[in-house]
Amino acid sequence: MRLVLIGPPGAGKGTQAAILSQTLGVPHISTGDLFREHVTRRTPLGRDAQRYLDTGELVPDHVTGGMVRERLTQPDTRHGFLLDGFPRTVPQARQLAAILDAAECELDAVLEFTAPEEVVVTRLLERGRPDDTEDVIRHRQRVYERQTTPLLDHYSDILLSVQAVGPVDEIAQRALKGLARPI
Ligand code: AMP
Repeated sequence: MRLVLIGPPGAGKGTQAAILSQTLGVPHISTGDLFREHVTRRTPLGRDAQRYLDTGELVPDHVTGGMVRERLTQPDTRHGFLLDGFPRTVPQARQLAAILDAAECELDAVLEFTAPEEVVVTRLLERGRPDDTEDVIRHRQRVYERQTTPLLDHYSDILLSVQAVGPVDEIAQRALKGLARPI
């Protein structure tokens, strides 16, 4: 199964992605995690990406798209994947479409996790990652609204919205039930 997960920072995408990846048997690919690995390993890409991560801005599409293209050529993605945090812009969705076209495959569904802003901001403040200061968190919410929510229209044909408030297992069950039904 080929899935994309969308949702505001703090909606619990990463947690859900880990559960769904295990249940569905497909790799979890988080662009945020890939960037953080590059930063830790001090690769040239990590050095380019760091300032964007620090401020909550999006890393430029050509950098992000190249990194995803490279990851999606690895053999573990042949039978499916779960993309967490990519695409985040309409141009990135076009990059993904080109990658999938070349591989003669397509997305099965886009899962949108929804949660009110105050809930997600509180969750992120509790998580305490280095880029989880209140200013950066609020900025990431604005970036999400401006740059990522247009994807909801873009993917309206295969979009499945899941309420991301409540116990983690219940949210995962909602997502899995939704995926079991034809979209
Ligand atoms: P996340 O772990 O998804 O919260 O992402 C952390 C940070 O990584 C974001 O604030 C961006 O700076 C960067 N990032 C992650 N995914 C993308 C993407 N698809 N496009 C651009 N920047 C991204």
